[in-house]
Amino acid sequence: MAELRLDPFTRRWVITGKRPVLPDAHDDGVSCPFCPGNERMTPPAIRESRDESGAWIARVFHDRAPLFRIEGEANRRAEGMFDRMNPIGAHEIVVETREHGKTLTQLPDAQISHVLELFRDRILDLKQDRRLRYVSLFKDQHPPSPAFTGHAHSQVLGTPVLPHMLEIELRWSREHFRKHERCLHCDALEQELTQGTRVVDRTDEFVAFCPYGSRSPYELWVVPARHSSSFEGDLELPGRAAALAPFLKSCLQRVECLSPSIHLVIHTEPNLHAWKPAEDWWKFVPEDYHWHIEIQPDMEGRRSFLGTEGFHFNPIPAEQAALVLSALDPGTEPKPET
Ligand SMILES: [Zn+2]
Ligand SMILES: [Zn+2]
Ligand SMILES: [Zn+2]
Repeated sequence: MAELRLDPFTRRWVITGKRPVLPDAHDDGVSCPFCPGNERMTPPAIRESRDESGAWIARVFHDRAPLFRIEGEANRRAEGMFDRMNPIGAHEIVVETREHGKTLTQLPDAQISHVLELFRDRILDLKQDRRLRYVSLFKDQHPPSPAFTGHAHSQVLGTPVLPHMLEIELRWSREHFRKHERCLHCDALEQELTQGTRVVDRTDEFVAFCPYGSRSPYELWVVPARHSSSFEGDLELPGRAAALAPFLKSCLQRVECLSPSIHLVIHTEPNLHAWKPAEDWWKFVPEDYHWHIEIQPDMEGRRSFLGTEGFHFNPIPAEQAALVLSALDPGTEPKPET
């Protein structure tokens, strides 16, 4: 059984131990478990969106070997000076389409909007569990190959601790707010729009830009133009998912022109209703944090890590990346720079 351990030197939680397969997963190792007709190969659906004929168009179920499980208690305890706890939480898979082999960008806008609403609903639902401090939503897209199912899907992790990256972002957002009484992201967005050199696309509602300190080549962020700390709260407003869908799609299409392998993550506020939150940390989150989507293409052969200390080397500065990405026509064939 896996457990969470706190590395006291970096204050980073690590999940360690065996990852047992659920008894209701029946993978035959040949068929795609995400395809229609193979539903019995996955745990039962937690949530399904259906079309008029009653057929599912997107579905959510527990990962077949979940890293976090809903049953039990966190039972945080000491082992001498060390800290450990049970990995209570959730680990879910969102299958984004019935059609095998299609990427998110090949789906109609309405379907992408459905998927975004499903993301929103899973985050809202899991945040009702006061044991969970955060809900992560991410997607690793790889070109179809024998090693990957090639069926578009994302993952949801509901965790009893904050992911390290979120903790860092929240810390510096809070620090900026404490000094200036302004949101760090809103300030950055204003400067990006004034300078314009790193902006790739914009509408009245959303802006896409390459962040000043991009960690990897062609990193692209999608940010709401108006302040909002919560992806799930924002997407509850009428028309927001429908507005985000085509914008996100065209951003992903630009990035896909450069690499078919993409990592996407949604950064949103932590669960403000979680049990025993560290009060001061969470007090100003609705004012000081700003949700965003980070997209990072996997550029083969371009190393982004220097050593193992987490130092990033990015050979393509954000301004150059933005020039290339803005010149790409979403939806057309790849035109990679040399
Ligand atoms: Zn499939
Ligand atoms: Zn803001
Ligand atoms: Zn972020």
